[in-house]
Amino acid sequence: VRVLGIESSCDETGLALIEVGADPARLPRLLADALHSQIAMHQDYGGVVPELASRDHIRRLLPLLQRVLTDSGCVRGDIDAVAYTAGPGLAGALLTGSALAAALAWSLGVPAWPVHHLEGHLLSPMLSSDPPPFPFVALLVSGGHTQLMRVDGVGRYALLGETVDDAAGEAFDKSAKVLGLGYPGGPALAQCAESGDPAAHDLPRPLLHSKDLDFSFAGLKTAVATRVQRLGRAPSEAERADLAASTQAAIVEVLVKKSAAALKQTGLNRLVVAGGVGANAHLRDSLNALAQRRGWRVHYPELRLCTDNGAMIALAAGLRLQHGLLDRPQRGVAGPQAVAVRPRWPLDELSPA
Ligand code: ATP
Ligand code: MG
Ligand code: FE
Repeated sequence: VRVLGIESSCDETGLALIEVGADPARLPRLLADALHSQIAMHQDYGGVVPELASRDHIRRLLPLLQRVLTDSGCVRGDIDAVAYTAGPGLAGALLTGSALAAALAWSLGVPAWPVHHLEGHLLSPMLSSDPPPFPFVALLVSGGHTQLMRVDGVGRYALLGETVDDAAGEAFDKSAKVLGLGYPGGPALAQCAESGDPAAHDLPRPLLHSKDLDFSFAGLKTAVATRVQRLGRAPSEAERADLAASTQAAIVEVLVKKSAAALKQTGLNRLVVAGGVGANAHLRDSLNALAQRRGWRVHYPELRLCTDNGAMIALAAGLRLQHGLLDRPQRGVAGPQAVAVRPRWPLDELSPA
């Protein structure tokens, strides 16, 4: 079965085609994927402008579909089902992808499957060369979410803890903005941090010693801003690097300690890191070092699949199909009755009661 995946929840337009067999022991195979990032377009505004995002998705979707078909040597008629991100995300952006999914499904007589964006992130390491077996703890660190989940199988997700305010990616982005490092802040701040001293500033690590698995990052940006203000002038290159390194160290320390606490609490020894912040080299180094000492295994998505993409959406649908959570697609089914999206949608609602 060939499943087309469509991602348009925020500022990346992603399409991909996967092939999936009935046997869950054989993971779905990626045939082709194509991505357009709107980063350059939003850069001038210092963040994502929702209306511009929607309009750009509309411009990119069909050419990207064509590229995926060409690269995989397939034609539209080879698509057996269409999976699209139905939420969470920006309503207008989500609607562009779901409208394409509905139109394709109607015209081809195949099903259109709504996919949860975070389930895509969570399962994306299944496309890596080191796919994790269940069960595991997932640290989901993206631009909009920071969560620890217990994952017992496809569609079986229990929330262990999450941020009470900003997400980790947001903390990177907002601190980078304060330091004048541009958008998106994560990669920019990480690069600037390379020449800095992570111990130069003792920045707050909220909830680090709380007994739960929750996070809080909102105070960090303010603390960074206060340090800059105290200088009374623009920071020098070296001062900027010290602040960036200290910020990164604070975020990473909290993520690592809370992941360790989640593994301890669940008694599991396998961790999956997904979402854009999972691309951060300092986070990976810290987790890998601790994992070696404690005997855990840590799994990551391929670097290019850490941020938003169509492959993870097709994959999530493919795995749901293999695990009996979706009906095997049949040709000639009636198309979707409505184009529905859910801008807010908690991941653990997917789990059986
Ligand atoms: P969500 O998935 O919660 O809806 P999103 O899709 O916008 O949010 P992703 O695309 O998964 O989030 O990730 C984007 C985030 O990852 C941004 O906040 C960005 O700054 C951050 N990020 C990307 N690369 C790095 C890096 N190397 N270091 C730190 N942060 C990074
Ligand atoms: Mg993005
Ligand atoms: Fe995302």
